[in-house]
Amino acid sequence: MLNVTDFDLSQKLVSEYMIPSDKVAHVQLNNPLDHALLVLTKTGYNAVPVLDFKSRFKGLISKSTIIEEMIGLDEINVGLLEGKIVESVMDDEVKTLQLDDTLEKALHLLIDYNFICVVDRSNMMEGILTRRQLLKQIRNQFYRQKTT
Ligand code: AMP
Repeated sequence: MLNVTDFDLSQKLVSEYMIPSDKVAHVQLNNPLDHALLVLTKTGYNAVPVLDFKSRFKGLISKSTIIEEMIGLDEINVGLLEGKIVESVMDDEVKTLQLDDTLEKALHLLIDYNFICVVDRSNMMEGILTRRQLLKQIRNQFYRQKTT
């Protein structure tokens, strides 16, 4: 049986389990929306972080937000994206984690979001923690217990 008390989430740091920023797809504040749509489509992600030119975390841009911008009166019109940039439609009210936050705190946030950006004290993006990463750790712990 999986004994979660053996995998104490309050003792594990987010920084040890996150995907580091050099492996995270992102867009910049001033990128055109059609570029952001291309990044999201090519990577297959539903949303990616938005950074400023100093790599500070500013928000998230999602496929659904961009698609909403393309909805005309009764059709999808890619032309409606023309002249619009990421900053004007991104979600900037986003919860973040700090490097020294614990997986316990992350667990609560990951119930509502499938990934959370991890930032340092100057809001520089250090990585992301995904629901998948957390579940993998719990699964690995489960199999470690079964074989010991
Ligand atoms: P996953 O748990 O791998 O399905 O990822 C959930 C969500 O986290 C994806 O839809 C993306 O929005 C985001 N995500 C995961 N991995 C990355 C990555 N390497 N770069 C950017 N966003 C990511």
